Amino acid sequence: MKILVTGGAGYIGSHACKALARAGFTPVTLDNLSTGWKDAVKFGPLVEGDLSRRADIDRAFAEHDPKAVLHFAAVSRVDEAMRDPALYWRNNVLGSLNLVEAALAHGCRDIVFSSTCATYGDQDNVLLDETTPQRPINAYGASKAAIEIMLRDFEAAHGLRHVIFRYFNVAGADPDAEIGEFHRPETHLIPIVLDAVAGKREAITVFGTDYPTPDGTCIRDYVHVSDLIDAHILGLRWLLDGKPSRDFNLGTGDGFSVREVIDAARRVTNRDVPTNIGERRAGDAVKLVSGSSRAREELGWAATRSTMPKMIEDAWRWHQVADYRQ
Ligand code: UDP
Repeated sequence: MKILVTGGAGYIGSHACKALARAGFTPVTLDNLSTGWKDAVKFGPLVEGDLSRRADIDRAFAEHDPKAVLHFAAVSRVDEAMRDPALYWRNNVLGSLNLVEAALAHGCRDIVFSSTCATYGDQDNVLLDETTPQRPINAYGASKAAIEIMLRDFEAAHGLRHVIFRYFNVAGADPDAEIGEFHRPETHLIPIVLDAVAGKREAITVFGTDYPTPDGTCIRDYVHVSDLIDAHILGLRWLLDGKPSRDFNLGTGDGFSVREVIDAARRVTNRDVPTNIGERRAGDAVKLVSGSSRAREELGWAATRSTMPKMIEDAWRWHQVADYRQ
C-alpha cells in the first residue's frame, strides 16, 4: 500500500519513510526540496513538487494512488515566523488546503497531520494536554492551529478523517545513522550544541537566562524522532482500521532546560561545549511540556528511546557522518 509523505525529504519525514518501508508500506515522498534533501529519500519514490501548486499534488496522486497521507511538509521556525508571518500562512495553511482538496478529489480520506505544541502558546506552568486551550503566540503555532480547524471542517463536510499529532521538541536521529537532522541554516538547539562540540561553530548562544525557571533558561520536552515516528505508524493504522479522528500530544512529560541539554551533551560526548549567553529569542514560550498520556493509553505508544542521553548519543553518531548534498 502506498502512502503519500509530504516533506518526506526532511528530518522527520525521512524517518517516517524508513519506518513505513519497514512496516511494509511504500512511502511516496512529495517534497519541494526547499529544506529537505534528495539524499534523504531512500525508501520509496520522490515526486518533486510544491503544495502551492495543485497540479504537483494531483500528479503525485495520479501516478501513485496513495491510500493515506502523512503530512509533514511545512515551514517550522519560530524566529522566521516572527519576521515573516505571511510565509507561514501562505505555505502552511494554503499548502494544506490544496493538499486536502486534492486528496478528496482522488478519493483519499485519511490524513495524519504534524501539528505542534506551539499551538498552545505560553501558559504559565501548565502541563499541556489535549484539552488545554490553544492560544498560539507566533505565526508558526497559529498556522498549525488553523490547519487543525480546517481538518475538522473538512471532516464534517466531506468525511476526511484525521489523526493530529502535536509534537513537542523532536530530537535524535536514526539509530543506524542512515538519516538524521540536517538543516541549513541550523536553528535547533541540540544540533547547534553538537556543532559547537565538534568545532563547526565557535559556541552555542543560550537565548535568555532570565526566564522564570529554576536555572533561568527555557524548558522543553524532547522526544526521540524514532519514537515520534512509531506514533505515526500507530496513527496510520488507527485510521486504516476505521477508528474516529483523534488528536494526540507527543511528548514524554519530562522537561529539560537549555542548560540541562548543554550539560547532557557535555557528558555524552565527553567534550567541552563552548557556551555564550545571549538575549531572549522573540516568540519563545517559557515552558512547553506535555501532560498527556492519551497516546500511550489509546494508541499503545511507548517512548522507549526518549531519554536525553540516548537522543544526544544518536544525534552525535549521525552528526559525525552527516553530509547530505543536493
Ligand atoms: N535555543 C538556544 N540557542 C540556540 C537554539 C535554541 O538557547 O542556538 C533555545 C531556544 O530558545 C528554545 C530551546 O533552545 O528555548 C529549543 O529551541 P529549538 O529552536 O531547538 O526548538 P523550538 O522550541 O523553538 O521548537
